[in-house]
Amino acid sequence: MAKKDFSLSTYPWTYQAKFEGNGVWNEVFLEKPHKTPEAEKAMAADELNALLLQRACFSDIPLVTYTSQYGLGCFEGMKAFPQKDGSVRLFRPDENGARFFSSMMGLRMPAFPVDLFVKAGKEVVRRNLEIGFCPVYDPAWEGDNYLSAHSVYLRPFTYSEAAVGLGISLAPWVFFIGTPVGSYFMPGAKKAITTKMTRATPFGTGWIKCDSNYVIPILAKKQAEEEGYMETIFLDSIERKYVEEGSSCNIFFVLRDGVLVTPALGETILPGITRKSVIQLARDAGISVEERNISIDEVLDDSIECFVTGTAAGISHFESITHEGRTVTYSGGEITPIAEKLLVELKGIQYGAIVDRHGWMFDVSK
Ligand code: PMP
Repeated sequence: MAKKDFSLSTYPWTYQAKFEGNGVWNEVFLEKPHKTPEAEKAMAADELNALLLQRACFSDIPLVTYTSQYGLGCFEGMKAFPQKDGSVRLFRPDENGARFFSSMMGLRMPAFPVDLFVKAGKEVVRRNLEIGFCPVYDPAWEGDNYLSAHSVYLRPFTYSEAAVGLGISLAPWVFFIGTPVGSYFMPGAKKAITTKMTRATPFGTGWIKCDSNYVIPILAKKQAEEEGYMETIFLDSIERKYVEEGSSCNIFFVLRDGVLVTPALGETILPGITRKSVIQLARDAGISVEERNISIDEVLDDSIECFVTGTAAGISHFESITHEGRTVTYSGGEITPIAEKLLVELKGIQYGAIVDRHGWMFDVSK
């Protein structure tokens, strides 16, 4: 799975909050070094990289922490979309804020209030927009189902106080940085393969969006890529039979009888906001949706479509899934009908081309 535009090209305005005790967060918006977007485009690569590196550094932040040593931290990913009407709107930041809050609680840190989260997210996007760092809506995007469309990716994350030794973070920082993004999956082969590695276990942290959960998916995905696949699929850790998730996305199947199935949430699956939205949109469209265990054998025998969902992945269909030498093939790489219907609906709402009937879009300037 190749990624585009997802490296160090962070936008100038960032946000930093430090927990001061008694429920108080000391907030500051920081404007990092920058030129105009046009002047930055004209810079030599080395010079631009040096500037971008400065934007990724935060002074006076300790290097030796529970986060850097043990991965004790959590994060979010959410997007702001340039709208057809010229405004810029965040997609369901209240949901990301609620998940961030529950991740921090799960890691036994003082949790960051949802209202501060939504305000910080809007303000980071708004300030960057004001200095020209935001994509502009292009009607041409409608022509290819928004495959070529751009948006702003926001990455809120926690970072612990200076520490060594096993302990919990009592005075974390919360940061927000933004970066431009295009399509997450490159066009081309979209084949998936199951992995023998385990992402999450009962009584573990699979339901939390914590840093330490991503080491195994990174390794499993790398291995899949080396074998010519784009994505890896995790099975449950006990019976090694039920499908759980992709490396950083939830998974859906359409079965022969037309039912849309996605693994039920539990301790080992991240409650995706795209997942929740897709379930809603499918039900709105009269598609029957089941949240239940689905075995890899049922997938191989009975599924006629498969797609994954996530903030970065959007809705991405698979061409095939391989498990222990057996392969189920979908539609020769072309997008399959239910995946396409849901993608057009979701992207249409996100880019303001379809009415936001569920109140999911938050205008960053209001
Ligand atoms: N599962 C995992 C493990 C993820 O990292 C993500 C990305 N946040 C998802 C699912 C999809 O969640 P969302 O739709 O909220 O981005």
